[in-house]
Amino acid sequence: MKFELDRNSPTPLYQQLRNQVRERILSGALPPGTRLPPERTLARRLGVNRTTVVSAYRELAAEGLVEGRVGHGTVVLRPPEAAQSGVVRPMRWAGPTEAEEPLVADLNAILRRPGAVSFAHGEMSPELYPVAPLATLAHRVLQDGSALGYGPIAGYGPLREAIAAAMGVTADEVLILAGSQIALYLISRVLLQPGDTVLVESPSYINSLGIFDSAGVRVVPVPVDRHGLVVEGLEELVLRYQPKLLFTLPNFHNPLGVTLAPERRRQLIQLAARHQLGIVEDDPYGQLYFTPEPVPTLKSMDPGGYVIYISSFSKTVSPALRLAWIVAAPPVVERIARARGNLDFRAALLNQRVMEAFLREGHLDRHLAAVRSTLKVRRDALMEALEAHMPPGVTWYVPEGGYHVWCSLPRPLTARRLLTEAGRDGVAFMPGDFYGAGQLARRGLRLNFSYPRLEEIGPGIQRLARAVERLLKEEASAGGEPGAFSGPVV
Ligand code: PMP
Repeated sequence: MKFELDRNSPTPLYQQLRNQVRERILSGALPPGTRLPPERTLARRLGVNRTTVVSAYRELAAEGLVEGRVGHGTVVLRPPEAAQSGVVRPMRWAGPTEAEEPLVADLNAILRRPGAVSFAHGEMSPELYPVAPLATLAHRVLQDGSALGYGPIAGYGPLREAIAAAMGVTADEVLILAGSQIALYLISRVLLQPGDTVLVESPSYINSLGIFDSAGVRVVPVPVDRHGLVVEGLEELVLRYQPKLLFTLPNFHNPLGVTLAPERRRQLIQLAARHQLGIVEDDPYGQLYFTPEPVPTLKSMDPGGYVIYISSFSKTVSPALRLAWIVAAPPVVERIARARGNLDFRAALLNQRVMEAFLREGHLDRHLAAVRSTLKVRRDALMEALEAHMPPGVTWYVPEGGYHVWCSLPRPLTARRLLTEAGRDGVAFMPGDFYGAGQLARRGLRLNFSYPRLEEIGPGIQRLARAVERLLKEEASAGGEPGAFSGPVV
């Protein structure tokens, strides 16, 4: 609390002090309940007589702005209405504001360059969206006024039934929500208490980490390798931390692109049964497989309601529809449905009606077949380009579906450094450390192949590879160890 008194001013010192304290009280800088410095202390600090401070405080008390309290000294009061009139006190919102992620600004700057290629996106290129059938169905659905009402809390009945039939469950196990993000948020609010522990893959889907953080739960990382979540060692973590839930992305992991091996799936379910461990299976990419058949979900192997399954139409049809669903035991569905009533009340009925018609008329199956084959062609082009252009020491996983490839740089390069270098050539990707997972992730890149068009992939990777080579050369001339790759790839 600093006050400045001007000895050359014609205004007496006690009035200067009174004015400054009054101004701060009225602006809210000194909120009600604040203790003013003791008279003697403030007098010493300002180099004035004690009576100067006593007079200032006395006048403030007379205006009803402060009060002398026995044992507490002089305390600021809530200013009376009259004192506040004419003074605008800006609203002081409590709590910290979130800092903008500088990476997003960097990526946007790169993508503004002419001819830029984005391997950084998390969505499909716009020409892959099923515009024509959605437009026809939306037009048709809009002829019926009942599509403009609220709809049921757990979702539009026929859509729940269609999803239930496709997944081999009953409609009361299905809840429609406006996005996986809301699903995960509600699961964390309904099933977790602050201080609980959850096991989360490392690295994992970035936006899940924010949810667990805001729920006040402790996150214990579990490693992931080329066969998905490492199940070996998991039981020890369960015994040590007594987690309530495990959050896992078994199919075409984001950001790693890897898929959980069938044997590990069986072990995971057995472990959940032994320890009554809840599993949240986040599966937005599962239907985008490049193998002849899809991988069976953990939910389909679940004998005792351990698994809460989340999926979404965001990655398969369109994220703009904001439609996702969970499959869980009916009591869990009911609890989460009640909680959603407080959050967003209902998912958009119009979008659900359009999606239900999209499924019923067979559009989804046709569309998925087309998307799978386009994405597979792009994945293959990306693999070929990496093989053709990347210098030795750069390694990657081959994804069997989904949107992403994880690529690792040789030591001592980091993905952030490469982003700066490749960004000058208009090539963007997601640096691995964005997804957590410490040192190994610092050398990792998430390369998306659902957004760049086929003809952009080869030239984009070629430019990226040249940027890697330039950095390796720089290192070599600085006496580093070019191309020396050692250790596992996350
Ligand atoms: N989970 C994963 C693994 C994702 O990659 C995404 C989207 N990037 C989501 C959830 C969120 O999807 P939605 O649009 O349904 O909220």
